[in-house]
Amino acid sequence: MSRKLNFSAGPCAIPLEVLNEMQENFADYQGNGISLAEVSHRHKLYDDVHNEAISLMKELLKVPDNYSILFLGGGGTLAFTMIPMNFLGEGKTADYVNSGTWAKKAIDDAKKVGNVNVVFDGKDSAYSTLPAASSMKASDGSAYFHFTSNETIGGIQWKDWPEVGDTPVICDMSSDIMSRELPIDKFAMIYGGVQKNLGPAGAAFMIIRNDLLERSPDSLTAYLNYKTHAEKNAMYNTPPVFTIWGVKVFLEWVKRNGGVAGMEQLADKKSKLIYDVLDGDDFYKSPVDPAFRSTMNIVFRLPSEELEAQFVKEAAAEGMMFLKGHRSVGGCRASIYNGVPESAVFTLTDFMKDFSRKNG
Ligand SMILES: *Cc1c(COP(=O)(O)O)cnc(C)c1O
Repeated sequence: MSRKLNFSAGPCAIPLEVLNEMQENFADYQGNGISLAEVSHRHKLYDDVHNEAISLMKELLKVPDNYSILFLGGGGTLAFTMIPMNFLGEGKTADYVNSGTWAKKAIDDAKKVGNVNVVFDGKDSAYSTLPAASSMKASDGSAYFHFTSNETIGGIQWKDWPEVGDTPVICDMSSDIMSRELPIDKFAMIYGGVQKNLGPAGAAFMIIRNDLLERSPDSLTAYLNYKTHAEKNAMYNTPPVFTIWGVKVFLEWVKRNGGVAGMEQLADKKSKLIYDVLDGDDFYKSPVDPAFRSTMNIVFRLPSEELEAQFVKEAAAEGMMFLKGHRSVGGCRASIYNGVPESAVFTLTDFMKDFSRKNG
């Protein structure tokens, strides 16, 4: 089998080892004569997978004991609604940083639930930069402070963490979770879809400090209340079993490959390889502030849209898939999540240099 090199912004590249292990165990899970896809989620076979996925998140990210870890359906997007429903509170205001497409979606949904104060809006810079973390302040009586650690479409990433006193900090880490070491205790909640850096699509992860759960109003219906899920260890209803199994196998691979520190080193190395090409060759331009360049989603422009289209097409012909930028911003984008090997990035940078020589 000739595998394509997957530079998709999501769902992500999954290491072949992980896919193979899932394939080998799909019909006959670990010699038990039955598939995980057909046993009850209350069965011991699944229960072990569920708890192992949670305990690997806890171990790899060094999550303190006073946090709950959940895997729920609905993706990162359902959290845009559930977070204000659970934590905003009647008549209160929440602070949001508008750093780009994903932050904006979170803001738009929160506004339908309650009051939102936008503390920073990147509109004037076309969302190419971020504020200094140290300049961030929560407003008086703020319910929480929300930001997006990595803008998957814009290609910008926070490098420091905002500190806003006692106001709970909530962060959408969909596209850079598990790619760098984190001071978890600076956050009241971290969440995101799992399909960028943790496994196949179908679930979102939530890491929630338990005191925050006390705010979830009893008036919420059961599923929409985070407390329900935390009290039932994310098994209130049937969980996305296949996805959570994928996350477990993916996290075991992360652990074998140096854990979060190993992933961080790899992300720094891989992203530098590409940024070095962008910086060293006038043919390519990076549209983002160098201080906030993402190590996960690298956006770049070529001299014309025609050349960009040709670049994407020729790369695909050589097995490098999904290098087209998001339709809302155009250009090119290479997403190099944890599952993308360094060798794929070497192939890409060789291709980039070659393409510029031929067309520059
Ligand atoms: C992909 C993404 C989401 C949405 O995730 P879904 O699981 O598709 O709902 C949210 N935030 C960011 C930063 C993302 O990259």
